Amino acid sequence: MSIARISDMDVAGKRLLVRADLNVPTEGGRITDTTRIDRFAEGMRPLLARGARLVILTHFGRPESNELDSSYSVDKFRPALAEALGVPVRFSDVCADESAVILSHQLANGEALLCENLRLNPGETANDPGFAAQLARLGDIFVNDAFSCAHRAHASTEALARLLPAAAGPLLVEELDALGTALDAPRRPSVAIVGGAKVSSKIAVLKNLVQRLDAVIIGGGMANTFLFADGAPMGKSLHEPDQIATVREIRRLAETSGCALHLPQEVVVAREFRAGADGLITDAFACPPDAMILDAGPEALTAFQSVLDGARTILWNGPLGAFEVPPFDVATVELARSAAARTRQGHAVSVAGGGDTVAALNTAGVTQDFTYVSTAGGAFLEWLEGRTLPGIAALNGAAAAA
Ligand code: AMP
Repeated sequence: MSIARISDMDVAGKRLLVRADLNVPTEGGRITDTTRIDRFAEGMRPLLARGARLVILTHFGRPESNELDSSYSVDKFRPALAEALGVPVRFSDVCADESAVILSHQLANGEALLCENLRLNPGETANDPGFAAQLARLGDIFVNDAFSCAHRAHASTEALARLLPAAAGPLLVEELDALGTALDAPRRPSVAIVGGAKVSSKIAVLKNLVQRLDAVIIGGGMANTFLFADGAPMGKSLHEPDQIATVREIRRLAETSGCALHLPQEVVVAREFRAGADGLITDAFACPPDAMILDAGPEALTAFQSVLDGARTILWNGPLGAFEVPPFDVATVELARSAAARTRQGHAVSVAGGGDTVAALNTAGVTQDFTYVSTAGGAFLEWLEGRTLPGIAALNGAAAAA
């Protein structure tokens, strides 16, 4: 894969048409967390300093019609963006028409323009070539800096990349480098921790990982389905009886590729699913009929920790139990701390991603210790599945033209 990087290109005086992901959380029209804006701006500041002219595209939410409902306007991000970029930010209340083109040409070196929410135009999600051609008039070079949107073939992530010289932005490069290190050329032994509610939502992830890595630790509700396939009683536990064939296939693939699968041999069960409920530690094959498995037990945790002890690459997606409801967060939190400690000591590269996983690492207080934490839920999972992401493929194709 050879993708051009904007940091390597001559940007002085060029209008960089940057696809960002500024889809920040808001409440009552106010931003509640500016992390996305701040990280994006950090990568853009050196480009502005080198004389680039930024034309910034983003989506925000999922507006259902193209009539401007002010709650979907991205104008409200302007003050935070200007502060983070360190320059005033102009605004175009449409993202693709003649007036936006004029504004883009009025930018001086080191200046920035933010365009209205892409998704107010139905051409965006339809990957409409006409809309992409209108967008293309806003810039001289297309820069994709939104890994979290790369699994969607939308006009601003796919079609547009084929119309202009195209390059990856700093955040996208960071994400691709971290993910590539962990999955394409992992330092061995390489271990994945895959948890979460259901096998059915991560079939492709499991199939891909067992063929690439040395070991996979399976936890959470999906471990229940594996145990059930081995004959364990489930009581009231979350499990998917219709996924037994999938479990067998994953086991077959793991065996063929020499990947060790680790399941909890001991679990925490409870009769009630509520914070502070009494948890009972039991053998994984001894869940009482009126109880449910909600976490991995302490012996299972120790076994998982010893798998991590030798690991040089650690990939993580999904919690090992119902971590939002203590005390069923223990195995997730403790294993996260072990992975973090190995990373801090320089023994392993650790990459984690997915909404629940990020929340679990935050609960454990170790997010900063991981080598890389991806906040891109859907794109991260599709990458774990080994799929080609349309936004990345388009950049790849475009690199030659750049
Ligand atoms: P996912 O979105 O597939 O990563 O699943 C995350 C969800 O799985 C979290 O909300 C957890 O509470 C839930 N989960 C993990 N383990 C269990 C379990 N043993 N029983 C019920 N829910 C679980």
